[in-house]
Formats: sequence, structure tokens, C-alpha cells
Amino acid sequence: MSDMRSLLRVGSTDPDVPVDLAAIDPNSTPGLPGRKTTGRDPKVWARAELELMGAELATQQEMLFAQATVEPQLGRSVLLVLQAMDCGGKDGAVKRVAGAMNPLGLHIKAFGPPTPEERRHDFLWRIRKALPPAGYVGVFNRSHYEDVLVVRVNGLAPESVWRPRYQKINDFERRLVGAGTTVVKVMLHISRDEQRERLTQRLVDPTKHWKFNPDDLDSRAKWDDYQAAYGEALARCGTDEAPWYVLPANRKWYRDWALAHLLRETFADLNLSYPQPDYDLAAQRRRLEADG
Ligand code: ADP
Repeated sequence: MSDMRSLLRVGSTDPDVPVDLAAIDPNSTPGLPGRKTTGRDPKVWARAELELMGAELATQQEMLFAQATVEPQLGRSVLLVLQAMDCGGKDGAVKRVAGAMNPLGLHIKAFGPPTPEERRHDFLWRIRKALPPAGYVGVFNRSHYEDVLVVRVNGLAPESVWRPRYQKINDFERRLVGAGTTVVKVMLHISRDEQRERLTQRLVDPTKHWKFNPDDLDSRAKWDDYQAAYGEALARCGTDEAPWYVLPANRKWYRDWALAHLLRETFADLNLSYPQPDYDLAAQRRRLEADG
């Protein structure tokens, strides 16, 4: 199949031209092989594949961790940045995809409104503190992009403050990548109708009432403004070093399958392997045998 990254990549051409999210169908399933190829129902097939890929991701993550343990100076990390409109499925994606990896090697962080302390610092301050150490896979559930999304849409800061942030973000991410972190930024793209469906579920299903936040309806009312803010952030910050991917996310089984694929391709580029021992293997075996 084609490379998932090239199928989902956005914003690589002209940073001044916003990505038109309306042109990307949230119901679509780029890269998914058809029923004729797999011989199975796509959803059933994708769920089974996800399980297999999950095991592979876990192995890759272990190799990342092992290499950083043995050779800390060469240690790399991976950072998955997840953004979405409310109900976009960030939590589900973390559970299903990151959840396949060893929790000990994960560094997961969710970002809400900045605390009073965070507000006293530059917007990247809390982000820097949350970066994954070498050997870890970091997951940001929301991120520094909120500072050019909700901040812009809700007028929490004037344009003179948020506009220069695109460049600051690009500089920050370039340094991050240069220092050995592979950055994968994914926007889970749902439709307005799908959001209504998911919000309705939260109001109807007693096990989901806790997920409903009345503020989500205020954000929903600003849907177009958010899509425009996303469009600009994706275009301005979709760099070669730290690309943005838009992942159609109305179908949860496709979302998880495609995200696992993106991560698998990312890991493959790192050419990871288990490190060679820095001790004499045969001698250690003999010692253990002699020990009885
Ligand atoms: P989620 O919706 O991600 O499941 P929450 O319900 O806790 O989690 O929502 C987090 C909220 O924090 C969102 O409304 C988001 O817009 C807000 N938020 C995150 N970062 C910032 C920021 N830098 N400035 C203002 N609000 C922010």
C-alpha cells in the first residue's frame, strides 16, 4: 500500500495558503485496502490489523528505550502531537494506539487551560517541561497549538501576541527535531455532524454524561472559526522537519488503524534495533552456568 504519511500529509506547499479542511472528507479512508483485497469487512479487518500493528509498535518502542538506556548520548524520542475539535477522538486514539505500547515507556500529557503559574511564562514553557525524555514515546493530548487555536478563536490574546507564535513554534520544533525527537503531528478530522452525534451520545448515555462539557457547545458554535484557525496552523507549521497530518476520523476503526500505520512508518525510519551487549556474552553465560 502507499505510504500513509504521504497520503495524509498537509501544508507542505505554501505556508501562506491555509489548508482547506472542508476539502478533506472526514468519512474517507485513505490507504485502506478494499474488501476485494482483504476479503473481509473493512472494519473487522482494520481492527485485526491494529492488533498486529500494536504488537509491532510495542517492540519498536522497547528498542527505542533499550537504545537510550545503553547509549544515552544517542538516545532518541518520538513525540505524537494530537489535536482535534471537541469529540474528535483523541482519548480513544490514545487508548487504542498508544495503549498497545508499554506504559512504562510512554510519556503522556494532556494540556488544559494554563494554570496561573503557566500563564506567567512563555506559552512554550509548559510544553518544554512535558517533552519525552530520550527513549520515550511522548503523546500530547492537545499541545502548544492551542495557543494559536482556542487563544485565537476566543480572543484570549491579541493577534499581535498569537500571530508571531507560528514562527516560534516552527523554531521550537526545529530545535526539538535537531536534538533527536521525531515529531508527528496529527489532527483528527471529524465532521460537524459527527460531533453532534458524539455530543448527543454524551447527553443520552449515563456512562458518558461525565464527558459532556457545556463549554463544548460554545466551541461548536464557533466551528468555522476553529476550522479556519486550524487551516492556518496546519499550513504555517506543517514543515518538513515536523509535518502535519490530517487524519479523517469519523470512523473510529479507520482512525486507529491509520494512526498506528503512521507511527509504524515513523519508527521504521528510525531503523531501530536491539543494542549489542557491552559485556562478554559468552563469559557471562559461563559464569551463570558455573553458579549452578
Ligand atoms: P479534552 O477536551 O481535550 O478532552 P478538557 O475537556 O479538559 O479535555 O479540555 C481542555 C480545554 O483546555 C480545552 O477547552 C482547550 O481549549 C483548553 N486549553 C488547552 N490549552 C489551552 C491554552 N493554551 N489556552 C486556553 N485554553 C486551553
